[in-house]
Amino acid sequence: MKDNNPLNRRHFIKLGTLAASATMLSSNAFAAEVAPAVLTDLPYPFAALEPHIDAKTMEIHHGKHHAGYIKNLNAALEKDAALAKKSIDELLADLPAISDEALRTTLRNNGGGHWNHDFFWKTLTPASESGEPSAKLAAAIEESFGSMEEFKKAFGAAAAKQFGSGWAWLIVQDGKLKITGTANQDNPAMKGLVPDADLGTPILGLDVWEHAYYLNYQNRRPDYVTAWWNIANWKVISERYAAATA
Ligand code: MN
Repeated sequence: MKDNNPLNRRHFIKLGTLAASATMLSSNAFAAEVAPAVLTDLPYPFAALEPHIDAKTMEIHHGKHHAGYIKNLNAALEKDAALAKKSIDELLADLPAISDEALRTTLRNNGGGHWNHDFFWKTLTPASESGEPSAKLAAAIEESFGSMEEFKKAFGAAAAKQFGSGWAWLIVQDGKLKITGTANQDNPAMKGLVPDADLGTPILGLDVWEHAYYLNYQNRRPDYVTAWWNIANWKVISERYAAATA
């Protein structure tokens, strides 16, 4: 049947684009030069993750919060042509070398915010498409945490104990899986800014800022984390694991 709904057609095209780019995750998902950073559309409609994340939260989170990080990032980079020429990964890796503390903090918060949210959107998918970890990732989860259930419990505990705004992460560190957390918009690729013990290649990041869940879950962060597993994109997470251990 021909699909005459332009929204569905657009959605289909975007899903195709996502599939094509998923193998290049994570660092190559961005343009070579960070500036000007652009807010790309989500690869699914705002309501596609309901009831686990509501449409209004997604709309505000993407269109206001992520857009805000991008706006601040671009404003800061307008004043420094050399930094603007770096890729976002280079920019984040080189943050410790920036001597202007105010600029470094602005780029850390907003460059990190841009990278983390782009990474996060790709980790989500409608529940019907959530899928399962690859055999290789499933085996690694079992080896590191005992079972999928134990892994989810440990990840949930890390998400719950992250005080204030921040992220819970599943990373590959020295070839092994590890759960960690970061404050604000830091992430485990920020060498020199997060503790060495937390450094690694992120394959899964969960936004535990209140703006990610408050409309629907209020103070019940653990409920958000539990529901969130329903919309985890295991295909993308598995591809990231494969890339990080290749
Ligand atoms: Mn967020």
